[in-house]
Amino acid sequence: ATNPASTDGRGAVVLSGITKLYGDQVAVDDLSLTVQPGEFISLLGPSGCGKTTTLRMIAGFEHPDAGDIRVSGKSVLNAPPYRRDVNTVFQAYALFPHLSVAENVAYGLQQRRTPKAEIRDKVTQALDLVQMHRFGDRKPTQLSGGQQQRIALARALVNQPSVLLLDEPLGALDRQLREEMQLELKLLQARLGITFIFVTHDQGEALSMSDRIAIMRAGRIEQLADADTVYARPASAYVAAFVGQQNFFRGRIEESGAAIASPHALVRAAKATLTGTGQGEAAVRPEYIRIAADDPTETTDANTARGELIGVSHLGDTMQYLVRLGDEQSLIVRRPTPDAPALQVGDPVLCTWAAHHVLLFPADDAA
Ligand code: ATP
Repeated sequence: ATNPASTDGRGAVVLSGITKLYGDQVAVDDLSLTVQPGEFISLLGPSGCGKTTTLRMIAGFEHPDAGDIRVSGKSVLNAPPYRRDVNTVFQAYALFPHLSVAENVAYGLQQRRTPKAEIRDKVTQALDLVQMHRFGDRKPTQLSGGQQQRIALARALVNQPSVLLLDEPLGALDRQLREEMQLELKLLQARLGITFIFVTHDQGEALSMSDRIAIMRAGRIEQLADADTVYARPASAYVAAFVGQQNFFRGRIEESGAAIASPHALVRAAKATLTGTGQGEAAVRPEYIRIAADDPTETTDANTARGELIGVSHLGDTMQYLVRLGDEQSLIVRRPTPDAPALQVGDPVLCTWAAHHVLLFPADDAA
């Protein structure tokens, strides 16, 4: 992916400073993004951050007010959707109910007056790809939701686009099916080498599937990186809060930018990364916090907090504890079930964590 010759090759998508306004509402704000050929990239963010609008501009359903969009090395701004080397799969798969599965998949090719024998071969191949070759004669209503979504995928893949745009394609499926389809989609993408641009508001989905994740906020990209980086080194409190679970401590910046003095704990990082003496935030993930019955003779230092256990939940492989430190502050703690301490709701507990697991951020009131 670092080969510069390939950055604008077949399947590359380059967004340069694209902006989209709806009235005076800025849906997408001077956004730039380079997607490598064959890359699986997710646009992740809360409702209204501009994911779908970005996707619709790449597809050609919306026109940007500013900026350029290049697909496979060519600007597509003046090309209608059907002339772009991209296809889209939507959450509402919109199969034609009166047509058979095979006819649904063939539809786009027929519109383009593709020869009959070629259509037959391509439909067979596309149905094979999604393991639905035995269902060609069924009507969509005779299929499960997951099967319908596979047909929608086959329909989008049948003319072999170099880029596939997916807008929450698994959103309508129940959790187990969704997880199966995530794996299938990822394998299919790797096998075909097609560029996938995948829109989701589900951080678990983005983390498990993507080569890189673009975390969006108010029409912009806040961080673009692989799952490990986004999880371990979030660029901002916003990203830290959106990806995975996080305990935040708010307070004054102390110790020359290395610690936050919050009402219930002095939270110290391994390195000073903040400047000034204003307000800041420290974040510690639930899996990095140790929890034990409180020993009142123990004196506490930085990175410890005393509280009351107010909840214990069994999550299967992990146990989750909810600890109340004070009126406005609680902590979520997770331990692997085999090492989880036996504690009762109501117990006084002591929570501790290591400085190298503490992330510091400037206060971000908009996050
Ligand atoms: P969701 O996850 O809810 O689909 P999203 O991140 O995809 O959200 P968009 O649908 O891209 O967000 O919307 C971005 C912003 O643009 C929102 O504030 C939305 O209200 C606004 N918007 C989107 N489409 C239109 C439209 N056709 N007319 C007016 N405003 C729109």
